[in-house]
Amino acid sequence: MLFGTLEILLCLAPVMLVIFTIGVGLVAQNKALDRKEKWRGLIPCPHCQKALNPEAYICRFCRKELYEFIPN
Ligand SMILES: [Zn+2]
Repeated sequence: MLFGTLEILLCLAPVMLVIFTIGVGLVAQNKALDRKEKWRGLIPCPHCQKALNPEAYICRFCRKELYEFIPN
């Protein structure tokens, strides 16, 4: 027997750490991208600041009317 369980775990630990670090980095990057994507073509509600479709006339989050705030 060349490697015991402990040796295999010790060899895999740094590899797992690298994979974990890359995974966390990718998730963080995706979240940042999501945040950017979230606001593409959307407007913030003047009452609750959540992202809304610019064609909406009632906020779907706080149910307040928006039409008087949209410049037309
Ligand atoms: Zn709102």
